[in-house]
Amino acid sequence: MAMIEFNKVNKYYGDFHVLKDIDFKIDQGEVVVIVGPSGSGKSTLIRTINALEEIQGGHLIVNGVDISDKKTDLDALRRDIGMVFQHFNLYANKTVLENVMLAPRIVLKRDEKENEENAMKYLALVGLTSKINAKPHELSGGQKQRAAIARALAMEPKVMLFDEPTSALDPEMIGDILNIIKDIIETTDMTIVTVTHEMDFAREVADRVIFIDEGAIIEDDSAENFYNHPTQKRAQQFLSRVL
Ligand code: ADP
Ligand code: MG
Repeated sequence: MAMIEFNKVNKYYGDFHVLKDIDFKIDQGEVVVIVGPSGSGKSTLIRTINALEEIQGGHLIVNGVDISDKKTDLDALRRDIGMVFQHFNLYANKTVLENVMLAPRIVLKRDEKENEENAMKYLALVGLTSKINAKPHELSGGQKQRAAIARALAMEPKVMLFDEPTSALDPEMIGDILNIIKDIIETTDMTIVTVTHEMDFAREVADRVIFIDEGAIIEDDSAENFYNHPTQKRAQQFLSRVL
């Protein structure tokens, strides 16, 4: 079953045509990596999936719900979608534990004790048990991203979106975060869409790689084919720059 279905999706920022006839499906449990040059529309694309960006044409169906339909309850949709951002987006004045407990308390109305146990479970999974009472400014970049991942997981979503989760981190922290994401991929059946330039990681985890340039999908192929035998000139040029 398709968990995410883009059907000729178009998006504009004012007059600027940022997403052009985007058409693809992602099955339940699939892991898809999105790559492309800076400014090509990767963040915009991934943000449309949880309706952080409105679309102007086509249909976008996520978890059986048509996002483009004005009647859709976006809060209900977002309950099933977790997102991890490049710049963490933690609540600055709340502790790590509070960051993780907030959405399940408000959105899922989870019982307080159960909520805390659940939050602690995911904080342990990302290796942050010793920092539960710290505020974000007391954490390193890698620790902030661990907290953000725990916060997303605590909602136990069906879909996880990662937008360049390691590109704001110091090099020595990148591997840790990628390993945590790999673990999540191996131990759950969540549908995962991640924008990343980490090629070794993409090769290891991706069922498919989607390459976008200037708002259009140029390649949609296995990681093996994309990295070893890109068919399109623009993909070849992109790879020759990042390799
Ligand atoms: P990427 O993530 O691939 O770097 P983005 O999706 O962030 O690309 O941006 C795609 C294009 O849309 C860029 O040219 C960017 O400047 C523009 N853009 C992004 N967000 C906005 C916005 N809120 N308003 C206007 N233009 C935007
Ligand atoms: Mg981006």
